Amino acid sequence: MEHFRSHPMFHRADSLEELGSKSGIDAAGLRETLAAYNASVQSGRDAFGRQHLPMEIKTPPFYAVIHHGHSATSSVGVVVDENLQVVRLDGEPVPNLYAAGEVLGAGVTMGDAFTPGMMLTPALTFGRLLGERLPVPGTSAVAGTSRATWRAANPSAMVQRG
Ligand SMILES: Cc1cc2nc3c(=O)[nH]c(=O)nc-3n(C[C@H](O)[C@H](O)[C@H](O)COP(=O)(O)OP(=O)(O)OC[C@H]3O[C@@H](n4cnc5c(N)ncnc54)[C@H](O)[C@@H]3O)c2cc1C
Repeated sequence: MEHFRSHPMFHRADSLEELGSKSGIDAAGLRETLAAYNASVQSGRDAFGRQHLPMEIKTPPFYAVIHHGHSATSSVGVVVDENLQVVRLDGEPVPNLYAAGEVLGAGVTMGDAFTPGMMLTPALTFGRLLGERLPVPGTSAVAGTSRATWRAANPSAMVQRG
């Protein structure tokens, strides 16, 4: 409860007018909304179809909590081919331009669904695959080289990890 006294996202007041003024909510609209909600609690019928209507809100103190919408991911992104090379609208690959991770967009790995973890996991996996396949300047490795082949061709360029 200490948060309600000090955090800028929370407001506490002894009247709806005061709560509206503190939180930037139109007091008349707030009063109407609460009256409608309280009526729903009494009747059991709610304009929004809510079925969980535990109790009327009418005894002070009243609290307001500010909620912000945010977008955690982008569902759209650049188009790549099977080598993660960015392609133009005409399907031609852009020389030396590759992409992995968020910039591909969530749609490419999830379609229309939302699946937890399906942004970070492909970002890490595709990023690693890309890092293993990309040519390194001054070496004989080329895009598409498998990790084992790349290692064999570039023994001194690899950082050995066990
Ligand atoms: C709040 C939130 C919650 C999330 N929760 C989940 C989750 O639970 N599960 C999940 O799978 N995904 C989640 N995601 C999505 C996931 O975090 C991202 O999709 C993923 O981190 C993208 O990784 P990335 O490497 O492609 O991009 P980023 O992690 O964005 O990395 C891009 C990097 O490039 C740097 N950069 C940008 N411009 C330049 C430049 N010009 N020069 C040099 N560096 C530059 C940036 O600083 C950044 O470090 C969440 C995202 C957010 C915002």
